[in-house]
Amino acid sequence: MKRQPLEPALEEIERQHLRRRRATVDAYPRPDSHANVIVEGRRLVDFSSNDYLGLAGHPALAAAMTECARRCGTGSGASHLISGHGREHAALEEELAAFTGRERALLFSTGYMANLGVVTALASRGESVLLDRLSHASLIDAGLLSGARFRRYPHCDARAARRLLEEGEPRTTVLATDGLFSMDGDVAPLPALSQAARAHDAWLVVDDAHGIGVLGRSGRGAVELAGLGCEQVPVLVGTLGKAFGTFGAFVAGTGALIDFLIQRARSYIYTTALPQPVAAAARAALRVSQQETWRRERALALTARFRAAAREAGVPLADSVTPIQPIPLGSARAALAAQHALLEAGFWVVAIRSPTVPVGEERLRVTLTAGHEEHQVDALVESLSRLCVPA
Ligand SMILES: *Cc1c(COP(=O)(O)O)cnc(C)c1O
Repeated sequence: MKRQPLEPALEEIERQHLRRRRATVDAYPRPDSHANVIVEGRRLVDFSSNDYLGLAGHPALAAAMTECARRCGTGSGASHLISGHGREHAALEEELAAFTGRERALLFSTGYMANLGVVTALASRGESVLLDRLSHASLIDAGLLSGARFRRYPHCDARAARRLLEEGEPRTTVLATDGLFSMDGDVAPLPALSQAARAHDAWLVVDDAHGIGVLGRSGRGAVELAGLGCEQVPVLVGTLGKAFGTFGAFVAGTGALIDFLIQRARSYIYTTALPQPVAAAARAALRVSQQETWRRERALALTARFRAAAREAGVPLADSVTPIQPIPLGSARAALAAQHALLEAGFWVVAIRSPTVPVGEERLRVTLTAGHEEHQVDALVESLSRLCVPA
């Protein structure tokens, strides 16, 4: 194919209200709270981040990172299998294994890469990968990259998943789902999915990027909420860039699984190890999240406050009791207009459009974090009610 000019494609994206633009965070007025930001000269309350526990600005994490950087420098210098694997990585892996109640954990540079690595290592051509229709883009890309036949079942429909597993040919090797869905805030039916996967000897991969640190009695995520262990959910993926306020991701499971991934997960093998200061900060995050349990409770209490006030004010809500609160608006144009109106009122709530969500399901995605104040939540609902409720 000949090289084509890109401007017409960009204009078409613009015409469909789908052009993406980045806003630059100039500063955090209070460095210890990322809930408040200055963006292009405007002071805003950020209701779009995934910093659920309010840890991204926590001084203990910054101190751990700084101390480690003085000791170990900035770069790892090589991949984990060459000479880049250090003590902070090893210690963090042990602590993540203990936290998730599994034999071992393996650090990846990002959640995107963890999903690519896991799915491509466990499924190949001639087999089949089964995904929830609303799974995160990284799981979809992982399924495509694996070369396996790629099938999706309706959102959270464990019976449909079971029927596809029963088809047998090609044999399903991986059944993958988000734990807590990133754009909808609902939780996968993990007990039923686990039963189905076990009955057909498929690996159940649960990507709990948003649930880990937040859900469950001790913050172990969607699997803890469902009361499931390593037998029922053999492959657990978690991220460090969301509730844990840093960067990176991990896979937790049996010793054999982790050893296999070290041999076969290409997105683990062929990339530079993440900087040790990042691992040191993640260790601090894990510690703080377990000591300051009020953070989890506060994120959930503010969620309940938001929902009660929104319901009272007639703001449309989705079926989510987690800190991810979608406000369905039905079109890209409406979602963008709402985003702009909220900006004027001092709130940063980003419109979520296609292809992140299906066409017609465009929405605002509000996230509540431990760093928010009650009055900020109330003021957001007040603004939303002026936007969303016909006068
Ligand atoms: C954010 C996210 C990822 C990717 O994690 P990163 O560490 O940001 O690459 C993977 N899966 C889900 C469900 C996510 O929401």
